[in-house]
Amino acid sequence: MVRVARIAVAGAVLSAVLAAGAGRAAANGVNTHTWISFHAIEHLPDGELKRLLLDPGMQVMLINGSIFPDGGYAVDHEFGETAHWEPFLGAYLRWMQDNLPEPYARGVARPYVAFMLGFASHGMADQVFDSMFMEAARGYDAANWSDALLDSFDTATDVMLVDATGVDYRGTEQWLPVDDLVGMFAEVGIAVDTSTLSNAQTAMHTFVLAYGASNGRDPVSVARYRTQYPWASDHLMDPHEAGSPPCEGEVVAAYWLSLWDRLHGVDEVQNQILATYPPAGSDGHPTDPDLVESQVAVVFGRGIPSSVADKVRVTDATGKVYDVAVRPFYGDGNTVVIRPREPWAANQTLTVELLAGITTIDGVVYDQPWSFQFSTGPATGPRDPTTDPTPHDGEPWSAPPAPTGGGCDAGGGAGLGATLMLTAWRRRRRRSRGLR
Ligand SMILES: [Zn+2]
Repeated sequence: MVRVARIAVAGAVLSAVLAAGAGRAAANGVNTHTWISFHAIEHLPDGELKRLLLDPGMQVMLINGSIFPDGGYAVDHEFGETAHWEPFLGAYLRWMQDNLPEPYARGVARPYVAFMLGFASHGMADQVFDSMFMEAARGYDAANWSDALLDSFDTATDVMLVDATGVDYRGTEQWLPVDDLVGMFAEVGIAVDTSTLSNAQTAMHTFVLAYGASNGRDPVSVARYRTQYPWASDHLMDPHEAGSPPCEGEVVAAYWLSLWDRLHGVDEVQNQILATYPPAGSDGHPTDPDLVESQVAVVFGRGIPSSVADKVRVTDATGKVYDVAVRPFYGDGNTVVIRPREPWAANQTLTVELLAGITTIDGVVYDQPWSFQFSTGPATGPRDPTTDPTPHDGEPWSAPPAPTGGGCDAGGGAGLGATLMLTAWRRRRRRSRGLR
């Protein structure tokens, strides 16, 4: 009896979760988000950030962060949508700077870093996947497209990813800094209490994560989803497919490095542009304006408002200026898509210019113009579709803890060491940029 009653309650919660989720546009599922976060670690350069995320003790926070934003949909609360976007991320960063001691790579800040990078990975991945991979799939897999949750693209691709990779995050302990999160949400105008946040996260673990994990191990279920979305089934794990999960991992790693810089008060050119599609210097770009793949995308390190449209220009070597539609794919998001309203000329080199004066949603002005080129000439081979044209060549570094027993100056000495090292790192990077 007790068992039946518990199942009935679980069924009621599941129905509520599914009903709330049904209105949600497709995006990555949460097994996929978590896989992307772990894959992104492989794209990080060796350093403190990578070591922090490779620490087995931090994986619980990275997993919880990676699934966290969709919890708002599960309990039908607006905190979920907000948790996807830069204003909330900015509030979280400021809270860390105000409340947690440096170095952030060690001590009490570490779980907060891992959790933040988890939900930042989620927000970035949704933008990259939706603007590139899912947009293409809407055409190729239109025949059986569905927005009903259990038949939706995000559920289907989540099951396919579990089938392809064998990942299983079920049983992960729930970790959520609920008291701190309530204050951060309040700062961006969202009223939410601790029990709502906890219940949402429980629903994500118990139902949404578990659905993909169990169905990805059920050959009948896997076959059903692969048949429903055949193009996605063939291309989901292809690192050469724009917006595929492996490709998303590369963009997420670039975003993490920029956030690690922001946390340490560093903001330089490599944090402004995180990725472009197609990559700078690439060839073989399609010319047909009706093809999703003909678009151009620029992924910024901060949220970008729709006014960016006035600051983008695409020209070719003949001097022709193209008629393009420019917009952040999601309002105030990081990913700006540039869609041609006419064919790109064949066998041409095109130049995408970002004019000086692009202002981010948090008021940072990019006062230097920036541009990149790609070609519609014949393709010379497959490439990573969203390579970062301004890669990081270092990261903030903190001095190791002072040796114990060094007297009352030891702590201050370590702090000074950290400051000096950070200054040296900044100088080194400036020099290396100057040489390019
Ligand atoms: Zn999401």
